[in-house]
Amino acid sequence: MSQRMQQGQPMIVMSEDSQRVKDKDAQEYNISAARAVAESVKSTLGPKGMDKMLVDSMGSVTITNDGVTILQEMDIDNPTAEMIIEVAETQEDEAGDGTTTAVAIAGELLKNAEDLVEQDIHPTAIIKGFHMAAEQARDEVDDIATRVDTEDEDLLRSVAETSMTGKGAELNKEHLSQLIVEAVRQVTVENEDGENVVDLEFLNIETQAGRSVDESDLLVGGIVNKDPTHDDMPREATDADVLLLNDPIEVEEADVDTEVSVTDPSQLQKFLDAEEKQLREKVDRIVDLGVDVVFCQKGIDDLAQHYLAKEGIVAVRRTKKSDLEFLSEVLDAAIVSDLESATEDDLGFGDVTRDEADELFYVEGEDAHGVTLLLRGSTDHVVDELERGVNDALDVVAQTVSDGRVLAGGGAIEVELASRLRDYADSVSGREQLAVEAFADSLELVPRVLAENAGLDSIDTLVDLRAAHDDGDVTAGLNAWTGDVENTFDAGVVEPAHAKEQAVTSASEAANLVLKIDDIISAGDLSTDKEDDEAGGPGGAPGGGMGGMGGGMGGMM
Ligand code: ADP
Ligand code: MG
Repeated sequence: MSQRMQQGQPMIVMSEDSQRVKDKDAQEYNISAARAVAESVKSTLGPKGMDKMLVDSMGSVTITNDGVTILQEMDIDNPTAEMIIEVAETQEDEAGDGTTTAVAIAGELLKNAEDLVEQDIHPTAIIKGFHMAAEQARDEVDDIATRVDTEDEDLLRSVAETSMTGKGAELNKEHLSQLIVEAVRQVTVENEDGENVVDLEFLNIETQAGRSVDESDLLVGGIVNKDPTHDDMPREATDADVLLLNDPIEVEEADVDTEVSVTDPSQLQKFLDAEEKQLREKVDRIVDLGVDVVFCQKGIDDLAQHYLAKEGIVAVRRTKKSDLEFLSEVLDAAIVSDLESATEDDLGFGDVTRDEADELFYVEGEDAHGVTLLLRGSTDHVVDELERGVNDALDVVAQTVSDGRVLAGGGAIEVELASRLRDYADSVSGREQLAVEAFADSLELVPRVLAENAGLDSIDTLVDLRAAHDDGDVTAGLNAWTGDVENTFDAGVVEPAHAKEQAVTSASEAANLVLKIDDIISAGDLSTDKEDDEAGGPGGAPGGGMGGMGGGMGGMM
């Protein structure tokens, strides 16, 4: 059975092991699988959300609060659950932040849809209603959003800080938000139409464990976290010609399997001489080009290192491909893949300096195009989670700079949208109306969970929020620090509009995708019984059944 599935052949005749679930049962099965996924990330939402510790099968540990990271690290083996994980991935790609929100809303949409299905409302009507509601919600977001001055640094810092709250990055958010806003500013250019274009390609993040987060810094140019290959090499070179090489400075072996049989010592000497000559020629080629510094992605032979050191050239081997690519932007240099054909035009020009304490090379181009955000933290786990938080914040600041539309956070936008969708529902006829209302209810999950995670009564909070919005306070949200319902925009809890539009879109599309399924045909055991330990058993049944998934996650939380 599993053999056939592995080969991915279409199943024409169902085997005895295969299972089929139809109609309401199929919807119920899918909805519960999808909801289980959404449930698993809810506790991380917002500033008071908790972190998760994920241990993979190799024992490596990730500690994170980041929705998409959690879902990707969880070893989920269920096709429906995977659709929900795709929501997080789309959100991450399109907006860079808001992954937990998108997944939580998708789960809540499905939960409310399940109630409607139970009331015998056909999924087609629900799907249509959800689709209408999502479209309306996007229009409303645009209407509600505040247009801001994209030069307003205080506002941009609020956007960065809102994104970092609840993350590892939060403790140092003042310092980091300053670096983030400055970094985005450095890589923003205005196009012909006067619009801001942020090119994050020119922004590199480098991490180093061992110092405090406060010592994180923004540097002009690039960083290479490597040592020079030879002790006798110079440590730095100013006004340097720099070669970026993706070609080994090693002896070219005609064929790895070639055996050299030597019959007398002179033959061996000849062979070695030939190798030496080849290396010498390569180094001479580099010297002739006038190179002061070589960053090589491949290896550099010991003897070649020695020659290079003698010539006073700084050489670094096994430079990361991504570093080399970034340096090519910083220095305006080509990456040379064949030393033989390299020309002076391929070289870059700039200053290469060395920080001995940190064992880093700083590379600054003539008129540097790139900047590097050097993130520091006490340990690798700290730095990794810091990087995830900072990455999200960079994305939302970049979006705000290019889009200029922001919203009040802390559930303010969700409650306002819900209220407007309920008004809109009145104009919708038929059963779709109920679906639009269910959509509105689903959005209110966000403030409810924010309140819950902050240890507040979610119903009280929601009642207060609704009352404020009924009074016309569009920006009334929950400030999780004070526990009060207030103008979160003024309190500095600010989010980009684009991320929210995307969250609404991807959540509703995923929910609709799940709802459309009315027939599940599985080649393996499709256990719907959570207690059934056999489900994810040795056969590795595709889908793993709910038991497989539930068990897998249970082990992690
Ligand atoms: P996501 O993965 O969806 O970005 P987060 O854990 O980053 O999830 O939480 C984002 C939510 O937290 C947003 O709704 C945002 O408005 C809210 N939030 C951020 N800071 C605060 C705050 N100080 N008070 C209340 N809510 C906040
Ligand atoms: Mg976030």
